Amino acid sequence: MNKIINGTQIANTIKEEIKQEIEAIEGKKPCLAVVMVGNDEASSIYVKNKNKACEYLGIKTDNYLLPQDTKEEELLKLIDELNNDKDVNGILVQLPLPSHIDEKKVLLNISPLKDVDGFHPYNLGMLATNSASLKSCTPSGCIELLKRYNVDIKGKNALVIGRSNIVGKPISMMLLNEDATVTTAHTKTQNLDYLTKQADIIIVAIGVANFLKPHMIKEGVVLIDVGMNRLDGKLCGDIDSSCIDKASLITPVPGGVGPMTITMLMKNCLTAYRMQNNLL
Ligand code: NAP
Repeated sequence: MNKIINGTQIANTIKEEIKQEIEAIEGKKPCLAVVMVGNDEASSIYVKNKNKACEYLGIKTDNYLLPQDTKEEELLKLIDELNNDKDVNGILVQLPLPSHIDEKKVLLNISPLKDVDGFHPYNLGMLATNSASLKSCTPSGCIELLKRYNVDIKGKNALVIGRSNIVGKPISMMLLNEDATVTTAHTKTQNLDYLTKQADIIIVAIGVANFLKPHMIKEGVVLIDVGMNRLDGKLCGDIDSSCIDKASLITPVPGGVGPMTITMLMKNCLTAYRMQNNLL
């Protein structure tokens, strides 16, 4: 049996589903506003990839490439205009922002209805009450991979290692919403090896190369690797690839969770469009 979860393939399947749904829309298509401040090289690549994905799916993009010295109030004014622009369905502010701009304040000012990253506290609160429409992209990508590989989440012991606001915490909430029994581990967690050995599903999102080792897991565990690290110039995850021998399913890095993130962002654009047009 092939144990490797093919994130690229699943992402492509979902993209085709989204493409068809967008093609079926009569009249104005969804529109995403992408805001970038400065010219950080990695951010430019991310923005380019997002534009490419939008173009393929039929989502219109409006790019706002602002200079590095843009004032916080200027950025907030633009966000306000985009919030009020009926032709814009989603707003994405590429992070990180320059240090003179308060990132939290900017994200808080994006309308929750247009928050395609799912970072707004309103949407996180909706997730906590299991009623979110716009959910953060990497976490929902992880859940989608589990579902599309028919992993039964209900009643399972799920361990999430990492508790960041954008990855670990939302994943824990989503697994709880799927009726898993969830444990969230972090740097202050004691006896992590004990927890990893009890887990049926482990999601690792810490940013430590090859952290999870075979001796820490039980036979048949499902492993989802969110980590993206560079080791000797090569991309690798937080899970040691030799864990494949004990796992029943495992995501590779690259080609696992990574391709899902941008796809879930596209899905959120469509969801935001539907919400704003009373189509949900
Ligand atoms: P982050 O904000 O740095 O958070 C890391 C979390 O991991 C923290 O909660 C930290 O615990 C915990 N942690 C760190 N070392 C640990 C250890 N040795 N044992 C237990 N817990 C530990 O990182 P992030 O933004 O969540 O990202 C995590 C990883 O996912 C990174 O490699 C990032 O590049 C990757 N990522 C990938 C995608 C994708 O699309 N594939 C998207 C986003 C992020 P404390 O809270 O106690 O400090």
